[in-house]
Amino acid sequence: MIIFKAADQISEFISEQKQKGKCIGFVPTMGALHAGHLSLIAASKSKNDVTVCSIFVNPTQFNNPDDFKRYPITVEKDIQVLVEAGCNVLFLPPVSEIYPPQYQKKTYNLGQIENTLEGFYRPGHFQGVCQVVDRLLEIVDPHKIYLGQKDYQQCMVVQKLIEIIGKEDDYKLITVPTMRESDGLAMSSRNLRLSETDRKKAPTIYQTLKDLKENYTKNTIDHLTNKAAERLKANEFKVDYVAVVDAKTLEPAKADTKQLVALVAASISDIRLIDNLPLN
Ligand code: AMP
Repeated sequence: MIIFKAADQISEFISEQKQKGKCIGFVPTMGALHAGHLSLIAASKSKNDVTVCSIFVNPTQFNNPDDFKRYPITVEKDIQVLVEAGCNVLFLPPVSEIYPPQYQKKTYNLGQIENTLEGFYRPGHFQGVCQVVDRLLEIVDPHKIYLGQKDYQQCMVVQKLIEIIGKEDDYKLITVPTMRESDGLAMSSRNLRLSETDRKKAPTIYQTLKDLKENYTKNTIDHLTNKAAERLKANEFKVDYVAVVDAKTLEPAKADTKQLVALVAASISDIRLIDNLPLN
């Protein structure tokens, strides 16, 4: 695996690969890699000649400075697992490569998906996501981008970003299903910070999602989401939202909405976890 830290060097390498006719798959991450990230690497490897992973803990997407400070950093181990997974290229930039002094901060008109759910509880988060993804795409310029469905709204935001920057014909976004622990907990770098007691309670999030999936035709959505929130609170979660919404727009579900998705965001001992499940 080749490791690049400088933006111009990786850009040059990728451009040479493209001239040779190679197809480039890109997996952006913030590190502390787990099997969920590796499923994205595997998906990219199966369809591209060169798989590029980036590890960059993007300061501009953290609305909570403590969350940023406490974000787990495990670079040595990450390099080892990427090598074992057969990743070809790692981009490991310092902040000054992503946001150099001449960087002009942009704002992106994301429409209503910016301010709902995650956007509502994490003001500015999706602008930060767009800033970093825009820069990474500018530098890596891949053919395909692999993102996890675990961050459902983020996938929608990145698709919108691709449209905003006019690259729908150049970049294909591939969404990879959520990898879970055997008890259903969605894999997440933040799980590393859970105490033993909280780790035992954490799968309640997935259980509430499954319950919503099993029952959404049998009861009202309000009743079911309230019940799910109560169940989480009874397990000492602070609940930001339990929502069942239109899977394509994230707007409230109506009687004729065809595709529904249930989404949860809740914190336990200040560790914020998110998860989702398509209902149909
Ligand atoms: P992160 O390092 O948390 O920013 O995640 C990097 C990428 O990995 C994002 O596209 C995430 O959606 C994806 N990802 C994170 N957790 C999982 C998971 N459990 N299953 C599949 N993809 C995931």
